[in-house]
Amino acid sequence: MQLRVYNTLNRKKEELIPIKPGQVGIYSCGPTVYKYAHIGNLRAYVFMDELRRVLEYDGMKVKSVMNITDVGHLVSDADDGEDKMQKSANETGKSPLEIAAFYTDQFMKDIDALNIKRPTITPKATDNIPEMLKVVEDLLEKGYAYETEDGIYFSVEKFPNYGRLSGINLDDQRHGARVEVNTFKRHPIDFALWKKAAPNHLQQWPSPWGMGFPGWHIECTAMSKKYLGATFDIHTGGVDHIPIHHENEIAQAECWLGCRPVNYWMHSEFMLIDGGKMSKSLGNTYTVSDIVERGYAPVMFRYFCLNVQYRQKINFTWEGMEGAKNAYNKLCAQLWAHKTSNVPTDKAVLDDYTKKFEDAINDDLNIPLAIGVLWTMLKEPKSKDIYNLALKFDKVFALDFDKIKEPERPKIDVPANITALAEERLLARKAKNWAESDRLRDQINALGYAIKDTATGYEITLK
Ligand code: AMP
Ligand code: ZN
Repeated sequence: MQLRVYNTLNRKKEELIPIKPGQVGIYSCGPTVYKYAHIGNLRAYVFMDELRRVLEYDGMKVKSVMNITDVGHLVSDADDGEDKMQKSANETGKSPLEIAAFYTDQFMKDIDALNIKRPTITPKATDNIPEMLKVVEDLLEKGYAYETEDGIYFSVEKFPNYGRLSGINLDDQRHGARVEVNTFKRHPIDFALWKKAAPNHLQQWPSPWGMGFPGWHIECTAMSKKYLGATFDIHTGGVDHIPIHHENEIAQAECWLGCRPVNYWMHSEFMLIDGGKMSKSLGNTYTVSDIVERGYAPVMFRYFCLNVQYRQKINFTWEGMEGAKNAYNKLCAQLWAHKTSNVPTDKAVLDDYTKKFEDAINDDLNIPLAIGVLWTMLKEPKSKDIYNLALKFDKVFALDFDKIKEPERPKIDVPANITALAEERLLARKAKNWAESDRLRDQINALGYAIKDTATGYEITLK
């Protein structure tokens, strides 16, 4: 079964044909490590992980690269505003290095908690400054970039395909531009490859143009080329990256290397909170810790995410989270019932579910549909074969089906007449009067309750 993915570049679903048969290279824009990742960020990485898992399920060998942005990402994704690392450093009195180390560690803990496989390589931007300088120097030499008073800029008008990914037009951009802050730029959306640093700027390195620091976009071009080659298979990120960050990546990489850098661009949609934007002022930028503090296991949040296909917006509410928890617990209870049965299931039945599952995941990662297949499958007569097949599906879902436990029986209020019958039965058992004990059990059953003998006496549940 061939995976088909929606390629933002061509605005359609396409068969994924890797450059090297059997191997896929993926580059994912990683976190900017100046604060905790919020659950919206994490949705983007659940998507990154699902993509990898589907490819691996299909037998591909995946090399996954995700950068750690620890320099150069300004408060706006373009060239305005303070550097996010510098801002966090100024607010906390810590060094950018300390801040980056702390939040990188937290991010890794979050992705572990959500069963997101760690990427094969997670390079830090600050470890790749020479590689970035090389790109900037080459672009200057080839005439695609120019120097201004405050940095080195890429000239978007030198790249005829600029705007193809997001469908923007350079003339509209010029006329629609805000009052220009940086008067040295030739075109309002020319972007910084390298910024000259003020003496008080915390992160700066020597360069042919004096002390400075890299622009945000250049890191992804330098590191993807280094680890995956001039042209690689898939690049992922959130939809917010399409119009600036990824458009800029394409322009600089194609001009630098003379070839198309990426074959498939895949973007995940945003997470909304209570139907609106996540924002600090609304106090709704929740983290994994918030989820756990409210009594939910991280895997239940993963289940929540998997129920919406990655190209659709997902709306987070605490009611929705409660719904995900209940559904997940019900799923695990049903899996348990299959696990503990020894009845076989016909191979043809299993094959049919396998095919439906594979069709769903290979159709641009339709994981919600694949979960639907699982729910239908669990309605089959209880069978260990069904559980084993669910375990195979869980290579893609990563919902801990291998760790399920016997579900706790719901506590019930046992009516006094049933307790009386149970006590009577206990006496009969102590007197080894088995016929009377069985008669009382039948009577309890007939009233809608079940009784089980335990080491300390008995347990009554609803039948
Ligand atoms: P950042 O750490 O800001 O560079 O963002 C990391 C990733 O999270 C990027 O791929 C963003 O596109 C993505 N992202 C940011 N906000 C949201 C959101 N509300 N919902 C989904 N993804 C988001
Ligand atoms: Zn990036």
